Amino acid sequence: MPRALITGITGQDGLYLAELLISKGYTVYGLIRGQNNPKIELVRRTVPDVRLVTGDLTDVSSLVRVLSEAQPDEVYNLGAISFVAYSWENAALTTDVTGKGVLNILEATRLYAGDDPASVRFYQASSSEMFGKVQEVPQRESTLLWPRSPYGVAKVFGHYMTINYRESYGMHASSGILFNHESPRRGPEFVTRKVTRAVARIRHGLQDALVMGNLDAQRDWGFAGDYVEAMWLMLQQPHGDDYVVATGETHSIRDLLNAAFDAAGIADWEPHVHQSQEFMRPAEVDLLVGDATKAREVLGWAPKVGFRELVAMMVEADLRDAAAEAR
Ligand code: NDP
Repeated sequence: MPRALITGITGQDGLYLAELLISKGYTVYGLIRGQNNPKIELVRRTVPDVRLVTGDLTDVSSLVRVLSEAQPDEVYNLGAISFVAYSWENAALTTDVTGKGVLNILEATRLYAGDDPASVRFYQASSSEMFGKVQEVPQRESTLLWPRSPYGVAKVFGHYMTINYRESYGMHASSGILFNHESPRRGPEFVTRKVTRAVARIRHGLQDALVMGNLDAQRDWGFAGDYVEAMWLMLQQPHGDDYVVATGETHSIRDLLNAAFDAAGIADWEPHVHQSQEFMRPAEVDLLVGDATKAREVLGWAPKVGFRELVAMMVEADLRDAAAEAR
């Protein structure tokens, strides 16, 4: 039975990836941080077969210990401070976790792999936010990186460190440049979930309005369940490499509002939505749309869930929660 270690097990992708690996017969270890992490219950409920190990990406000694305990064949580094707005307020912490944390786990993995560095396969969760001030549309693996936030800068560090460990030590290390991916498990601070939750609450009379930032920002949104398959496929290849994972379709925040209100049966969204400077980014990332040709051709990967279907899935889940709250 193959063994895997997932950092970021309590996050959206960690849960989907754990479900996928368990369905494939893996023994899965999940890294939990903190003394009394309230999300442990969520992990136990959602993926009870995952074995939990304690550690932190900023503490390399904990990672060395966890690797020796879990003895993984594959390491998926999904742990990060992952919210762009928060990264502006906590830039140094984001650099430590989302940036240097990657070096910590790469180094711990290299030491654990010993004489045969390629014997342990490593996945790094890179991000389309690395493209920031876009230099090319659509963005592909070779597009110049120009991050526009502390989060994006930290991800660029992790991305190049992963490439360097692959090239310098011969590690089987891959970097997935994933465009935005969402699901009913997306954190409520992210824009898609903020919208679908608010729409459901408006529908049930729990909230009147929704305050938004830039409605013209455009993103390439896919379904997290599809994207974790791409992560796994990368580690099944003979060599590590970098891949853009995206739908290739872009939608504005306006499109998102349209689709979400529509899915909740509310015809006109404009009276419910206000804009505020508070939610504008200091430096906006304008047009993110990915070219996943390489992932399609090499990995045989393609997204299955489309934009409207994804938004409807999220609204439906939030409508259930709002209905329960309204009772
Ligand atoms: P989430 O924000 O849902 O999860 C982040 C995870 O990182 C949580 O499990 C969190 O644990 C963990 N974490 C935070 N700090 C530390 C730390 N110091 N040590 C160990 N773990 C830590 O992210 P997603 O699941 O959405 O994303 C997974 C990865 O993919 C992230 O690296 C993200 O940046 C990247 N990514 C995501 C995209 C998306 O659209 N979802 C797009 C591109 C990249 P805790 O519960 O303890 O806080």
